[in-house]
Amino acid sequence: MTYTEIKERGNKKYYYRAKSIRKGKKIKKQRIYLGVNLSKQNLGELEKKADEKLLNKKTEKQIKEKHKETKKQLQESKEQESQLGITAEKDEFSDWFVQLLQKSELIEYTKVSGSYVIRPKAYFIWEKVKDYFDKKIKQDGVKNAYFPLLIPESNLIKEKEHVQGFSPEVAWVTHAGDTKLSEKLAIRPTSETIMYPSYAKWIRSWRDLPLRLNQWVNVLRWEFKNPVPFIRSREFLWQEGHTAFATKNQAEQEAEKILDFYADVYKEMYAIPVIKGVKTEKEKFAGADRTLTTEIFLPSGKAVQGATSHNLGQNFSKVFNIKFLDKDKKEKFVWQNSWGISTRSIGIAVMTHSDNKGLVISPKISDIQAIIIPIFKTQEEKKQIIKKCQEIKNKLNDFRIEIDDREEYTPGFKFNEWELKGIPIRLELGPKDLEKNQVVMVDRLDNKKRSVKISKIKQEIKKEIERQQSELYKRAEKFLQDNICKVENMTDLKSKIKERKIVLVPMCKKVKCEDWVKGKSGGAKTLNIPFEQPDLKGKKCVNCGKQADYWVYVGKSY
Ligand SMILES: [Zn+2]
Repeated sequence: MTYTEIKERGNKKYYYRAKSIRKGKKIKKQRIYLGVNLSKQNLGELEKKADEKLLNKKTEKQIKEKHKETKKQLQESKEQESQLGITAEKDEFSDWFVQLLQKSELIEYTKVSGSYVIRPKAYFIWEKVKDYFDKKIKQDGVKNAYFPLLIPESNLIKEKEHVQGFSPEVAWVTHAGDTKLSEKLAIRPTSETIMYPSYAKWIRSWRDLPLRLNQWVNVLRWEFKNPVPFIRSREFLWQEGHTAFATKNQAEQEAEKILDFYADVYKEMYAIPVIKGVKTEKEKFAGADRTLTTEIFLPSGKAVQGATSHNLGQNFSKVFNIKFLDKDKKEKFVWQNSWGISTRSIGIAVMTHSDNKGLVISPKISDIQAIIIPIFKTQEEKKQIIKKCQEIKNKLNDFRIEIDDREEYTPGFKFNEWELKGIPIRLELGPKDLEKNQVVMVDRLDNKKRSVKISKIKQEIKKEIERQQSELYKRAEKFLQDNICKVENMTDLKSKIKERKIVLVPMCKKVKCEDWVKGKSGGAKTLNIPFEQPDLKGKKCVNCGKQADYWVYVGKSY
């Protein structure tokens, strides 16, 4: 606060405007001289002006505080190094996963439960996967198209099993503004029922077959189970392929081929092994004759369906009247498939490889493959080192490289941040490295440091990317093998499920037996009947004891 002091000497009054400042225990005063023998009016104006000066003037305390603040910021930056990371261990799975997704900047939550923003880092992954798969199917003769988001109710309810499978999850558009629509419109949960009326128009003769279309879109399924980002979310991105063939055999062959493509996506892009197989009658897609899946086992102890390929048989072609005139002049219904892989695969990859320090992702799909961190103390060093970093970046223009030259953060802070964000390779360049014409290379998987000559940097980066890709796959494969087991009776099945394993058991194909297994094992479901079947001779169903029809994987699942 400011105040006016008046000092009288003789018959003169000297006016001062003053302000007290506490300085430790002492009180210091700042004063501005206003004048002598001032009139009231004059005084008022002068006081105002002086106040402005006094209040704007930085006091010593303020200056000191400013210094303190700068110091504090640096300190905080250092403290953040330890706080930046994830505070949950991978064992506390869901907490760990949700923190990881947000802190590594893959997603951002919104107000709508179960829907979230796919941030650039995650979207980049999707783009990579999309490019890879899109190229594969186009080379195989599939074409891309786009069908509308809204599906009339009358279309959706045509295939009975299909609609029963989806109806609880369908979101409906019922109004345009305040006007009620004459027919409810479903927001696509999947597009069979919007695509096939067009197929019925386009397919006339055997010459129009096969018809093989794909679309890259979003779908909405109003899930009520616990939403888990990517893994179980209401809206997700996917591709859905819908094909029509003249014969059952052609359709079945395609479904299997596409399943192999999906296994390739998981291996080549995500560095994850899958179990290929067929769903049981109980677990197959609503409206399909046969559902082929790639199942993946996650560190949470749960399995998840990674991608699916369905033989729809003639179920939809009979409902939507998709007929063709065959070479033998007979009219026949087409045989159809539908197949899809979604952004769920991103969640699967993140869960599989990441650790307590943060995201781990295969270098092929990482938006940044290597981050260069300049380390310097003086301005002179800075100039030289930044220049060298730029040179290195230019040498590496076949890769996705960035330089982190932010000066407000310590190198230690940056190391932790890029670890959290899962950048596969870190290159550090300090004055000593500059002298020796080398960089320090640190890998995200094992955090091992080694020096690399700048002249050899390109080959070394290439090698390291390939090494990490195959190392990640190897580790995931080992994890899978360590957690698979094979048993032949219910007691063993129950105890293995408790240990969070996935268990291969002989079973008969009765749905009742599957229900029993689910009940007795505390909610474990059949995952798939693997293509690779052990010998079935003399094997009995774990539930009813009658001759088994197949070996099937059972486990907890998302
Ligand atoms: Zn049985």
